[in-house]
Amino acid sequence: MTTRYLTPLLPLLALIGCTTPAPTGPEVGPDLQVSPPAQLPCLTCSPTVRFFSRPFDGQLPALNLFDHESGAANGRSTFFWGEQVGLGSIAGTPVLIEGHRGYDWKMPIGTAIFAAAGGRVIEIIDGNPAATCPFPAQQLTQQRRITLQHTLPDGTIIRTRYDHLNAIQVSLNETVLEGQQIGLSGQTGCARGPHLHFEVLRVTGTASGQPTPIDPFGWQNRNGSDPWKAAANGAESIMLWKSSQVPETRLTVFQPIAAGFNAGITSVAWMGVDDTRTPKNEELILTFNGGPDDVFRIAAVRGDRSGVNHQFAARPTLSATRQRLHIFSGSGIGNDTMIYLNRSPIWDNNFSDCARIVFANDVQVRLNLGNGCP
Ligand SMILES: [Zn+2]
Repeated sequence: MTTRYLTPLLPLLALIGCTTPAPTGPEVGPDLQVSPPAQLPCLTCSPTVRFFSRPFDGQLPALNLFDHESGAANGRSTFFWGEQVGLGSIAGTPVLIEGHRGYDWKMPIGTAIFAAAGGRVIEIIDGNPAATCPFPAQQLTQQRRITLQHTLPDGTIIRTRYDHLNAIQVSLNETVLEGQQIGLSGQTGCARGPHLHFEVLRVTGTASGQPTPIDPFGWQNRNGSDPWKAAANGAESIMLWKSSQVPETRLTVFQPIAAGFNAGITSVAWMGVDDTRTPKNEELILTFNGGPDDVFRIAAVRGDRSGVNHQFAARPTLSATRQRLHIFSGSGIGNDTMIYLNRSPIWDNNFSDCARIVFANDVQVRLNLGNGCP
């Protein structure tokens, strides 16, 4: 755990032992930003430092991702791997917010929130009577938000913003360490449900000269340029997550086991990064809720839009001794509870698909990925 605190301390130590002022603090102006020559290979275009740890423990499902076409009302979201997905709804709740400038992760109210990096508290909102919202929000005027400021080793200044909090546990101008608990998550402000809105702003190196949101996953599309980098109020995004700290970016739909059933699909995570190359992108979880003697044999996994009907030669079972099965559409090394189908994606990213499991007795269970289950 001690290594978590090394990163923010290093610049301070450098200052103490050095007589020449170094570009270490937020007070340093944007003129110290490193601007590489344009003719260099693109690896040098961004600071390649991995700076962030996850702002919460474990992994939590994503609800919204950064829209790289934030400036355009075009009815879709453009993710950092270049995919464009139309807005949709699941069980009547809209999914993907047009022009979303951060990441939302679903979490219970009261989840501990940590500073993604060492820095200083530059903004606290604790109750906001002027808050507005396009939909009715339960605790609109109770908006609670923290903004931290950080300096990357190359002098680039960024901010991280934590919104919809229930509790704020730091004070304005306080210095915080990476991984330090700064508050508790909530549903305050303009929020439909409990979640953390995490936003990263770039202060230096923006097109407008003003702080502007960027994507902490950078822009990872090999085949096209980043529309947000080219936008008048945009900036180049930076992949900031340490490799062991990258948070979940797949969307996930959950449902309970239906009444009268002893097994069911309890979640499907899909719509992940670069589907065809990422075997764990699509993950269907089957859960058992039967008695000690029940055994359910699984015959097939199906997707309505793709028409995929993946039949199992050796039928895996769900029983009291194997109460959960994880089924991934890609390839990987399976075990007793993890099955890799070794194929391309099954479920479409258009919010109108249906995931189905067919049991050996022909009984089907399904999960609605939008309005796709007829
Ligand atoms: Zn959000």
